[in-house]
Amino acid sequence: MTARLYDAHVHLADLRLRPYENEIEKAYRRLNLGKAVVVGTGPHDWPLVLEQSAANPRLLPAIGLHPWQVPRAADDWQDSFLEAFKAGAHAVGEIGLDCWIEGYDLSKQIPVFEFQLQFAVENNLPVSIHALKATGPLMDILRTATLPARGFHLHAYSGPLELIDELTSLGAYFSFNGGQLHRPAARARLFAIPSDRLLIETDAPDFLPQAAYREHELEVDGEALCHPANLGLAYRAIAELRKCPPTELAITVEANFKRFFL
Ligand SMILES: [Zn+2]
Repeated sequence: MTARLYDAHVHLADLRLRPYENEIEKAYRRLNLGKAVVVGTGPHDWPLVLEQSAANPRLLPAIGLHPWQVPRAADDWQDSFLEAFKAGAHAVGEIGLDCWIEGYDLSKQIPVFEFQLQFAVENNLPVSIHALKATGPLMDILRTATLPARGFHLHAYSGPLELIDELTSLGAYFSFNGGQLHRPAARARLFAIPSDRLLIETDAPDFLPQAAYREHELEVDGEALCHPANLGLAYRAIAELRKCPPTELAITVEANFKRFFL
């Protein structure tokens, strides 16, 4: 039996994708999708993440306050976060640290990140982490905090090549999307990830892949977005870059996804 495909990180609750829900579902069926982790970013999209996942057994709901949403979050966001887990959330995400976004404030991001990471530890939940230009502060936390026994997931990994061994020993899984694959540095990172820690994602509708890594087009209000079904081409391109037969890669990623997320 051939392995199915798994998206470790996709924003299906992004409102820009709503008009295309049926089309995306049809494309997922053609793709033989096993599961996709539907990642939330804040209280505004958490209800839809839960609703979509409850209606579709292929989808796994992840609830998290994204660092970009920290300045907008209401004071009682933690109550909504905890409620979402009572209502069936399966994973924590997207959480993280970001020193790339204009006006970032790590003193606000860090306690939000630590609260959510701690919740994942206490409940041994899968956690999906975003880190952009924030390697130092992230490593400070990962090196000293208690981490989930099952490990943790670094989405769209863009940190230094030299840290991959240490992160692996701390329990990291790493995912990459088609939007990263044209960059030589991302290819080098991808090549260095141990097979048993590799995951694949789209981060759709963001991270639009360059034309060579895109086989499904999606344009909303004149803006080109990443179609979630570009997952199939990401798998094929990653197999080629890692010099691994596509069927073998799919079997490996399926095993990794199930071990970490299920
Ligand atoms: Zn994301």
